[in-house]
Amino acid sequence: MTEAKLSTFSAPKGTYDLIPPDSETFLAVREAIAAPLRSAGYGYIETPVFEDVKLFSRGVGESTDIVTKEMYSLTTKGGDELALRPEGTASVLRAALQANLHRVGNLPVKLWYSGSYYRYEKPQAGRYRQFSQVGAEAIGAEDPALDAELIILAVDAYRSLGLKNFRLLLNSLGDRECRPVYRAALQDFLRGLDLDEDTLRRAEINPLRVLDDKRESVQKQLTGAPLMRDHLCEDCKAYHEQVRELLTAAGVAFEDDPKLVRGLDYYTRTTFEFVHDGLGSQSAVGGGGRYDGLSEMIGGPALPSVGWALGVDRTVLALKAEGVETAVPARTQVFAVPLGEQARQVLFGLVTEARRAGVAADIAFGGKGLKGAMKSADRSGARWAVVAGERDLADGVVQLKDLTTGDQTPVAVTALVTTLKEKLS
Ligand code: AMP
Repeated sequence: MTEAKLSTFSAPKGTYDLIPPDSETFLAVREAIAAPLRSAGYGYIETPVFEDVKLFSRGVGESTDIVTKEMYSLTTKGGDELALRPEGTASVLRAALQANLHRVGNLPVKLWYSGSYYRYEKPQAGRYRQFSQVGAEAIGAEDPALDAELIILAVDAYRSLGLKNFRLLLNSLGDRECRPVYRAALQDFLRGLDLDEDTLRRAEINPLRVLDDKRESVQKQLTGAPLMRDHLCEDCKAYHEQVRELLTAAGVAFEDDPKLVRGLDYYTRTTFEFVHDGLGSQSAVGGGGRYDGLSEMIGGPALPSVGWALGVDRTVLALKAEGVETAVPARTQVFAVPLGEQARQVLFGLVTEARRAGVAADIAFGGKGLKGAMKSADRSGARWAVVAGERDLADGVVQLKDLTTGDQTPVAVTALVTTLKEKLS
Protein backbone atom coordinates (compact mmCIF):
# COMPACT_ATOMS: atom_id res chain seq x y z
CA MET A 1 0.00 0.00 0.00
CA THR A 2 1.23 3.47 -0.75
CA GLU A 3 1.18 6.04 2.04
CA ALA A 4 -1.45 8.75 1.56
CA LYS A 5 0.57 11.82 0.68
CA LEU A 6 -0.83 15.28 1.11
CA SER A 7 -0.28 17.63 -1.79
CA THR A 8 1.60 20.88 -1.22
CA PHE A 9 -1.50 22.72 -2.38
CA SER A 10 -4.91 23.22 -0.90
CA ALA A 11 -8.04 24.92 -2.21
CA PRO A 12 -7.74 28.74 -2.08
CA LYS A 13 -9.15 30.59 0.94
CA GLY A 14 -12.92 30.83 0.85
CA THR A 15 -13.30 27.93 -1.59
CA TYR A 16 -13.80 24.22 -1.11
CA ASP A 17 -13.84 21.08 -3.17
CA LEU A 18 -17.05 19.26 -3.80
CA ILE A 19 -16.34 15.61 -3.25
CA PRO A 20 -18.45 12.45 -2.95
CA PRO A 21 -20.75 11.81 -1.20
CA ASP A 22 -21.61 15.51 -0.50
CA SER A 23 -21.25 16.35 -4.19
CA GLU A 24 -24.24 14.08 -4.86
CA THR A 25 -26.39 16.26 -2.62
CA PHE A 26 -25.24 19.28 -4.62
CA LEU A 27 -26.33 17.66 -7.86
CA ALA A 28 -29.65 16.68 -6.29
CA VAL A 29 -30.24 20.27 -5.15
CA ARG A 30 -29.35 21.72 -8.54
CA GLU A 31 -31.67 19.27 -10.25
CA ALA A 32 -34.51 19.85 -7.79
CA ILE A 33 -34.36 23.61 -8.37
CA ALA A 34 -34.12 23.20 -12.13
CA ALA A 35 -36.99 20.72 -12.53
CA PRO A 36 -39.92 23.06 -11.75
CA LEU A 37 -38.33 25.77 -13.92
CA ARG A 38 -37.99 23.47 -16.91
CA SER A 39 -41.61 22.40 -16.73
CA ALA A 40 -42.70 26.02 -16.43
CA GLY A 41 -41.12 26.94 -19.77
CA TYR A 42 -37.73 28.28 -18.67
CA GLY A 43 -34.90 27.53 -21.14
CA TYR A 44 -31.34 26.80 -20.03
CA ILE A 45 -28.70 29.47 -20.55
CA GLU A 46 -24.97 29.44 -19.83
CA THR A 47 -22.78 32.53 -19.99
CA PRO A 48 -19.02 33.04 -19.47
CA VAL A 49 -17.71 33.19 -15.90
CA PHE A 50 -16.03 36.49 -16.71
CA GLU A 51 -17.48 39.61 -18.30
CA ASP A 52 -16.53 43.19 -19.05
CA VAL A 53 -16.19 44.70 -15.57
CA LYS A 54 -18.49 47.56 -16.57
CA LEU A 55 -21.40 45.16 -16.95
CA PHE A 56 -21.38 44.91 -13.17
CA SER A 57 -19.96 48.25 -12.09
CA ARG A 58 -22.04 50.15 -14.65
CA GLY A 59 -21.08 53.58 -13.33
CA VAL A 60 -24.73 54.38 -13.03
CA GLY A 61 -27.02 53.42 -10.22
CA GLU A 62 -26.06 53.12 -6.63
CA SER A 63 -22.92 51.51 -5.34
CA THR A 64 -23.13 48.23 -3.51
CA ASP A 65 -20.61 46.25 -1.47
CA ILE A 66 -20.66 43.55 -4.10
CA VAL A 67 -19.38 45.96 -6.73
CA THR A 68 -17.15 48.23 -4.64
CA LYS A 69 -15.45 45.68 -2.39
CA GLU A 70 -16.16 42.15 -3.42
CA MET A 71 -15.57 41.92 -7.13
CA TYR A 72 -12.69 39.90 -8.54
CA SER A 73 -11.53 42.17 -11.33
CA LEU A 74 -8.55 41.68 -13.57
CA THR A 75 -6.77 43.22 -16.52
CA THR A 76 -5.89 40.77 -19.28
CA LYS A 77 -2.60 40.75 -21.16
CA GLY A 78 -4.51 42.43 -23.97
CA GLY A 79 -5.63 45.22 -21.64
CA ASP A 80 -9.28 44.17 -21.26
CA GLU A 81 -10.85 44.98 -17.90
CA LEU A 82 -12.78 41.91 -16.83
CA ALA A 83 -14.47 40.67 -13.68
CA LEU A 84 -15.39 37.21 -12.47
CA ARG A 85 -19.17 37.28 -12.33
CA PRO A 86 -20.44 38.15 -8.83
CA GLU A 87 -24.02 37.32 -9.81
CA GLY A 88 -26.02 35.96 -12.74
CA THR A 89 -28.70 38.47 -13.64
CA ALA A 90 -26.58 41.06 -15.45
CA SER A 91 -24.84 38.37 -17.54
CA VAL A 92 -28.09 36.65 -18.49
CA LEU A 93 -29.71 39.93 -19.47
CA ARG A 94 -26.62 40.89 -21.47
CA ALA A 95 -26.70 37.54 -23.29
CA ALA A 96 -30.44 37.78 -23.99
CA LEU A 97 -29.99 41.27 -25.46
CA GLN A 98 -26.96 40.20 -27.48
CA ALA A 99 -28.83 37.23 -28.99
CA ASN A 100 -31.87 39.42 -29.59
CA LEU A 101 -34.09 37.03 -27.65
CA HIS A 102 -36.31 39.93 -26.64
CA ARG A 103 -38.11 40.25 -29.99
CA VAL A 104 -41.69 41.41 -29.79
CA GLY A 105 -44.00 38.45 -29.45
CA ASN A 106 -41.29 36.51 -27.65
CA LEU A 107 -41.81 38.11 -24.26
CA PRO A 108 -41.31 37.25 -21.53
CA VAL A 109 -38.03 35.49 -22.26
CA LYS A 110 -37.82 32.85 -19.53
CA LEU A 111 -34.35 31.52 -18.77
CA TRP A 112 -32.67 29.51 -16.04
CA TYR A 113 -29.01 28.97 -15.25
CA SER A 114 -26.69 27.16 -12.90
CA GLY A 115 -23.09 27.99 -12.12
CA SER A 116 -20.35 29.39 -9.91
CA TYR A 117 -20.18 33.00 -8.73
CA TYR A 118 -17.31 34.88 -7.17
CA ARG A 119 -17.20 37.45 -4.39
CA TYR A 120 -14.20 38.50 -2.36
CA GLU A 121 -15.96 38.17 0.98
CA LYS A 122 -14.68 37.34 4.43
CA PRO A 123 -15.08 33.58 4.45
CA GLN A 124 -17.16 31.94 7.16
CA ALA A 125 -19.62 29.06 7.43
CA GLY A 126 -22.04 29.48 4.52
CA ARG A 127 -20.12 32.38 2.99
CA TYR A 128 -17.54 31.55 0.36
CA ARG A 129 -15.54 33.32 -2.30
CA GLN A 130 -16.75 30.88 -4.92
CA PHE A 131 -20.28 29.66 -4.48
CA SER A 132 -22.95 28.04 -6.56
CA GLN A 133 -26.35 29.33 -7.58
CA VAL A 134 -29.26 28.19 -9.68
CA GLY A 135 -31.13 31.19 -11.00
CA ALA A 136 -34.12 32.12 -13.13
CA GLU A 137 -34.97 35.27 -15.02
CA ALA A 138 -38.21 36.29 -16.76
CA ILE A 139 -37.30 39.15 -19.06
CA GLY A 140 -39.55 41.71 -20.70
CA ALA A 141 -42.91 41.59 -18.96
CA GLU A 142 -44.50 43.58 -16.20
CA ASP A 143 -47.03 41.21 -14.76
CA PRO A 144 -47.53 40.40 -11.08
CA ALA A 145 -48.30 36.80 -12.10
CA LEU A 146 -44.72 36.46 -13.30
CA ASP A 147 -43.31 37.61 -9.95
CA ALA A 148 -45.67 35.18 -8.23
CA GLU A 149 -44.77 32.35 -10.64
CA LEU A 150 -41.08 32.65 -9.87
CA ILE A 151 -41.60 32.76 -6.12
CA ILE A 152 -43.92 29.75 -6.25
CA LEU A 153 -41.40 27.79 -8.36
CA ALA A 154 -38.69 28.46 -5.78
CA VAL A 155 -40.97 27.39 -2.94
CA ASP A 156 -41.92 24.22 -4.83
CA ALA A 157 -38.25 23.45 -5.43
CA TYR A 158 -37.43 23.76 -1.72
CA ARG A 159 -40.46 21.68 -0.84
CA SER A 160 -39.57 18.96 -3.35
CA LEU A 161 -36.24 18.62 -1.56
CA GLY A 162 -38.05 18.13 1.72
CA LEU A 163 -36.92 21.47 3.15
CA LYS A 164 -39.36 22.87 5.69
CA ASN A 165 -37.95 25.58 7.94
CA PHE A 166 -37.53 28.31 5.38
CA ARG A 167 -39.37 31.59 5.38
CA LEU A 168 -40.19 33.97 2.55
CA LEU A 169 -39.66 37.68 3.26
CA LEU A 170 -41.42 40.03 0.89
CA ASN A 171 -41.22 43.74 0.18
CA SER A 172 -41.74 46.28 -2.58
CA LEU A 173 -39.03 48.81 -3.36
CA GLY A 174 -41.25 51.05 -5.48
CA ASP A 175 -40.44 52.33 -8.94
CA ARG A 176 -38.83 55.34 -10.56
CA GLU A 177 -41.84 57.46 -9.58
CA CYS A 178 -42.10 56.81 -5.87
CA ARG A 179 -38.66 55.52 -4.95
CA PRO A 180 -36.76 58.84 -5.36
CA VAL A 181 -39.25 60.62 -3.09
CA TYR A 182 -38.87 57.91 -0.48
CA ARG A 183 -35.09 57.88 -0.89
CA ALA A 184 -34.93 61.59 -0.10
CA ALA A 185 -37.17 61.19 2.95
CA LEU A 186 -35.02 58.34 4.23
CA GLN A 187 -31.85 60.32 3.64
CA ASP A 188 -33.23 63.23 5.67
CA PHE A 189 -33.97 60.85 8.50
CA LEU A 190 -30.55 59.17 8.36
CA ARG A 191 -28.66 62.47 8.36
CA GLY A 192 -30.14 63.19 11.78
CA LEU A 193 -28.79 59.97 13.33
CA ASP A 194 -25.59 59.31 15.22
CA LEU A 195 -23.91 57.08 12.63
CA ASP A 196 -20.25 56.30 11.94
CA GLU A 197 -18.56 57.84 8.94
CA ASP A 198 -18.84 54.77 6.72
CA THR A 199 -22.55 54.43 7.35
CA LEU A 200 -23.13 58.14 6.78
CA ARG A 201 -21.33 57.82 3.45
CA ARG A 202 -23.52 54.87 2.60
CA ALA A 203 -26.56 56.94 3.54
CA GLU A 204 -25.55 59.44 0.84
CA ILE A 205 -24.83 56.87 -1.87
CA ASN A 206 -27.30 54.09 -1.17
CA PRO A 207 -29.50 55.01 1.80
CA LEU A 208 -31.77 51.98 1.47
CA ARG A 209 -28.84 49.73 2.26
CA VAL A 210 -28.55 51.31 5.72
CA LEU A 211 -31.92 49.75 6.58
CA ASP A 212 -30.28 46.38 6.05
CA ASP A 213 -27.44 47.08 8.52
CA LYS A 214 -27.20 44.10 10.84
CA ARG A 215 -25.66 45.98 13.80
CA GLU A 216 -27.94 46.40 16.77
CA SER A 217 -26.67 49.92 17.48
CA VAL A 218 -27.81 50.96 13.98
CA GLN A 219 -31.06 49.01 14.06
CA LYS A 220 -32.02 50.73 17.34
CA GLN A 221 -31.68 54.13 15.74
CA LEU A 222 -33.74 53.04 12.74
CA THR A 223 -36.94 52.72 14.78
CA GLY A 224 -39.30 55.21 13.25
CA ALA A 225 -37.40 55.42 9.95
CA PRO A 226 -39.66 56.17 7.00
CA LEU A 227 -40.59 52.95 5.21
CA MET A 228 -41.03 52.39 1.48
CA ARG A 229 -44.41 50.76 2.00
CA ASP A 230 -45.79 54.08 3.26
CA HIS A 231 -44.44 55.85 0.18
CA LEU A 232 -45.52 53.48 -2.60
CA CYS A 233 -47.38 55.12 -5.49
CA GLU A 234 -50.81 53.76 -6.41
CA ASP A 235 -49.45 51.62 -9.27
CA CYS A 236 -46.80 50.01 -7.10
CA LYS A 237 -49.26 49.45 -4.29
CA ALA A 238 -51.74 47.72 -6.60
CA TYR A 239 -48.99 45.66 -8.22
CA HIS A 240 -47.67 44.49 -4.86
CA GLU A 241 -51.15 43.67 -3.64
CA GLN A 242 -51.69 41.40 -6.65
CA VAL A 243 -48.42 39.56 -6.05
CA ARG A 244 -49.44 39.00 -2.45
CA GLU A 245 -52.90 37.73 -3.45
CA LEU A 246 -51.49 35.30 -6.02
CA LEU A 247 -49.04 33.90 -3.48
CA THR A 248 -51.75 33.47 -0.89
CA ALA A 249 -53.99 31.71 -3.43
CA ALA A 250 -51.12 29.32 -4.19
CA GLY A 251 -50.71 28.47 -0.52
CA VAL A 252 -47.38 30.25 -0.21
CA ALA A 253 -46.88 31.89 3.17
CA PHE A 254 -44.81 35.07 3.35
CA GLU A 255 -43.80 37.70 5.86
CA ASP A 256 -43.96 41.36 4.92
CA ASP A 257 -40.54 42.80 5.65
CA PRO A 258 -40.60 46.54 5.03
CA LYS A 259 -36.84 46.78 5.64
CA LEU A 260 -35.83 44.13 3.12
CA VAL A 261 -33.49 45.79 0.64
CA ARG A 262 -30.97 43.23 -0.68
CA GLY A 263 -27.44 43.69 -1.89
CA LEU A 264 -27.81 44.69 -5.52
CA ASP A 265 -28.73 48.12 -6.70
CA TYR A 266 -31.08 47.35 -9.56
CA TYR A 267 -34.14 46.04 -7.76
CA THR A 268 -37.53 47.72 -8.19
CA ARG A 269 -40.96 46.79 -6.86
CA THR A 270 -41.15 43.12 -5.77
CA THR A 271 -38.16 42.10 -3.66
CA PHE A 272 -37.90 38.89 -1.71
CA GLU A 273 -35.56 36.68 0.20
CA PHE A 274 -35.75 33.12 1.45
CA VAL A 275 -34.18 32.65 4.84
CA HIS A 276 -33.51 29.49 6.79
CA ASP A 277 -33.39 29.60 10.55
CA GLY A 278 -30.90 26.76 10.97
CA LEU A 279 -27.98 28.56 9.34
CA GLY A 280 -26.78 31.16 11.83
CA SER A 281 -25.79 34.55 10.47
CA GLN A 282 -25.65 33.54 6.79
CA SER A 283 -29.34 32.70 6.74
CA ALA A 284 -30.31 33.77 3.20
CA VAL A 285 -30.74 30.69 1.05
CA GLY A 286 -32.05 32.59 -1.95
CA GLY A 287 -33.45 35.85 -3.12
CA GLY A 288 -34.48 38.00 -5.99
CA GLY A 289 -36.90 40.54 -7.27
CA ARG A 290 -37.94 42.79 -10.08
CA TYR A 291 -35.34 44.81 -11.96
CA ASP A 292 -37.31 46.96 -14.35
CA GLY A 293 -34.48 49.42 -15.05
CA LEU A 294 -31.48 47.12 -15.48
CA SER A 295 -31.80 46.60 -19.23
CA GLU A 296 -31.60 50.34 -19.84
CA MET A 297 -28.68 50.60 -17.40
CA ILE A 298 -26.69 48.25 -19.64
CA GLY A 299 -27.68 49.98 -22.86
CA GLY A 300 -30.74 47.89 -23.80
CA PRO A 301 -34.37 48.87 -24.36
CA ALA A 302 -36.88 49.11 -21.53
CA LEU A 303 -37.44 45.50 -20.47
CA PRO A 304 -39.16 45.12 -17.12
CA SER A 305 -37.99 41.82 -15.68
CA VAL A 306 -37.96 39.67 -12.58
CA GLY A 307 -35.71 36.89 -11.34
CA TRP A 308 -34.13 35.06 -8.47
CA ALA A 309 -31.04 33.11 -7.54
CA LEU A 310 -31.00 30.33 -4.99
CA GLY A 311 -27.74 29.48 -3.27
CA VAL A 312 -26.90 25.81 -3.76
CA ASP A 313 -24.21 25.70 -1.02
CA ARG A 314 -26.55 27.15 1.59
CA THR A 315 -29.48 25.00 0.49
CA VAL A 316 -27.26 21.96 1.08
CA LEU A 317 -26.37 23.33 4.54
CA ALA A 318 -30.06 23.97 5.26
CA LEU A 319 -30.92 20.39 4.32
CA LYS A 320 -28.18 19.17 6.65
CA ALA A 321 -29.45 21.44 9.44
CA GLU A 322 -32.89 19.87 9.08
CA GLY A 323 -31.46 16.37 8.81
CA VAL A 324 -33.08 15.84 5.41
CA GLU A 325 -31.57 13.09 3.26
CA THR A 326 -31.85 13.88 -0.43
CA ALA A 327 -32.76 10.98 -2.67
CA VAL A 328 -29.61 9.01 -3.43
CA PRO A 329 -29.12 8.86 -7.19
CA ALA A 330 -28.71 5.60 -9.12
CA ARG A 331 -25.72 3.76 -7.67
CA THR A 332 -23.70 0.86 -8.89
CA GLN A 333 -26.02 -2.14 -9.18
CA VAL A 334 -23.49 -4.78 -10.19
CA PHE A 335 -19.80 -5.06 -9.33
CA ALA A 336 -17.49 -7.37 -11.24
CA VAL A 337 -14.68 -9.21 -9.44
CA PRO A 338 -12.24 -10.81 -11.89
CA LEU A 339 -9.79 -13.38 -10.60
CA GLY A 340 -6.87 -13.53 -12.99
CA GLU A 341 -5.94 -11.99 -16.31
CA GLN A 342 -8.33 -13.92 -18.55
CA ALA A 343 -11.28 -13.17 -16.25
CA ARG A 344 -10.32 -9.49 -16.27
CA GLN A 345 -10.73 -9.36 -20.03
CA VAL A 346 -14.00 -11.29 -20.10
CA LEU A 347 -15.58 -9.37 -17.20
CA PHE A 348 -14.47 -6.02 -18.61
CA GLY A 349 -16.35 -6.94 -21.79
CA LEU A 350 -19.40 -8.02 -19.80
CA VAL A 351 -19.39 -4.80 -17.75
CA THR A 352 -19.32 -2.74 -20.93
CA GLU A 353 -22.19 -4.80 -22.35
CA ALA A 354 -24.18 -4.45 -19.11
CA ARG A 355 -23.66 -0.69 -19.05
CA ARG A 356 -24.84 -0.40 -22.64
CA ALA A 357 -27.93 -2.36 -21.65
CA GLY A 358 -28.70 0.18 -18.92
CA VAL A 359 -27.30 -1.66 -15.90
CA ALA A 360 -25.14 0.45 -13.57
CA ALA A 361 -22.01 -1.69 -13.44
CA ASP A 362 -18.48 -1.29 -12.14
CA ILE A 363 -15.41 -3.53 -11.91
CA ALA A 364 -12.40 -3.93 -9.63
CA PHE A 365 -9.37 -2.24 -11.17
CA GLY A 366 -5.70 -2.40 -10.42
CA GLY A 367 -5.24 -6.18 -10.16
CA LYS A 368 -6.94 -6.49 -6.76
CA GLY A 369 -7.16 -9.92 -5.14
CA LEU A 370 -10.47 -11.53 -4.14
CA LYS A 371 -10.58 -9.99 -0.66
CA GLY A 372 -9.81 -6.44 -1.75
CA ALA A 373 -12.15 -6.65 -4.74
CA MET A 374 -15.03 -7.94 -2.60
CA LYS A 375 -14.47 -5.02 -0.22
CA SER A 376 -14.74 -2.65 -3.18
CA ALA A 377 -17.94 -4.43 -4.24
CA ASP A 378 -19.45 -3.88 -0.78
CA ARG A 379 -18.37 -0.26 -0.69
CA SER A 380 -19.90 0.38 -4.12
CA GLY A 381 -23.39 -0.28 -2.75
CA ALA A 382 -24.03 -2.85 -5.50
CA ARG A 383 -26.64 -5.53 -4.87
CA TRP A 384 -24.85 -8.12 -7.02
CA ALA A 385 -21.25 -9.18 -7.53
CA VAL A 386 -20.16 -11.07 -10.60
CA VAL A 387 -17.15 -13.20 -9.64
CA ALA A 388 -15.19 -15.25 -12.16
CA GLY A 389 -11.91 -17.18 -12.24
CA GLU A 390 -10.34 -19.30 -14.91
CA ARG A 391 -12.22 -22.45 -13.87
CA ASP A 392 -15.59 -20.67 -14.14
CA LEU A 393 -14.75 -19.38 -17.57
CA ALA A 394 -13.62 -22.81 -18.71
CA ASP A 395 -17.16 -23.96 -17.79
CA GLY A 396 -18.64 -20.97 -19.65
CA VAL A 397 -20.08 -19.43 -16.46
CA VAL A 398 -19.60 -16.61 -13.96
CA GLN A 399 -20.74 -16.66 -10.32
CA LEU A 400 -23.55 -14.26 -9.52
CA LYS A 401 -23.43 -13.39 -5.85
CA ASP A 402 -26.28 -11.68 -4.00
CA LEU A 403 -24.42 -9.31 -1.68
CA THR A 404 -27.31 -8.99 0.77
CA THR A 405 -27.84 -12.76 1.36
CA GLY A 406 -24.43 -14.10 0.33
CA ASP A 407 -26.10 -16.66 -2.01
CA GLN A 408 -24.12 -17.48 -5.10
CA THR A 409 -25.25 -19.17 -8.34
CA PRO A 410 -23.47 -19.90 -11.60
CA VAL A 411 -24.87 -18.10 -14.67
CA ALA A 412 -23.84 -18.74 -18.29
CA VAL A 413 -21.59 -15.96 -19.58
CA THR A 414 -23.89 -15.55 -22.57
CA ALA A 415 -26.95 -15.14 -20.34
CA LEU A 416 -25.44 -12.78 -17.75
CA VAL A 417 -26.70 -9.43 -19.00
CA THR A 418 -30.24 -10.71 -19.60
CA THR A 419 -30.28 -12.34 -16.15
CA LEU A 420 -29.09 -9.11 -14.52
CA LYS A 421 -31.71 -7.08 -16.34
CA GLU A 422 -34.43 -9.46 -15.17
CA LYS A 423 -33.23 -9.44 -11.57
CA LEU A 424 -33.00 -5.66 -11.48
CA SER A 425 -36.33 -4.93 -13.13
P1 AMP B 1 -27.58 37.39 -3.88
O1 AMP B 1 -27.17 37.45 -5.30
O2 AMP B 1 -26.62 38.07 -2.96
O3 AMP B 1 -28.98 37.71 -3.65
O4 AMP B 1 -27.42 35.85 -3.50
C1 AMP B 1 -28.40 34.89 -3.76
C2 AMP B 1 -28.11 33.68 -2.93
O5 AMP B 1 -26.80 33.18 -3.23
C3 AMP B 1 -28.05 33.97 -1.44
O6 AMP B 1 -29.33 33.90 -0.87
C4 AMP B 1 -27.14 32.88 -0.94
O7 AMP B 1 -27.86 31.69 -0.74
C5 AMP B 1 -26.19 32.68 -2.08
N1 AMP B 1 -24.92 33.40 -1.81
C6 AMP B 1 -24.63 34.71 -2.03
N2 AMP B 1 -23.38 35.00 -1.66
C7 AMP B 1 -22.83 33.85 -1.20
C8 AMP B 1 -21.56 33.47 -0.67
N3 AMP B 1 -20.57 34.35 -0.57
N4 AMP B 1 -21.37 32.19 -0.28
C9 AMP B 1 -22.36 31.28 -0.38
N5 AMP B 1 -23.58 31.56 -0.88
C10 AMP B 1 -23.82 32.83 -1.28
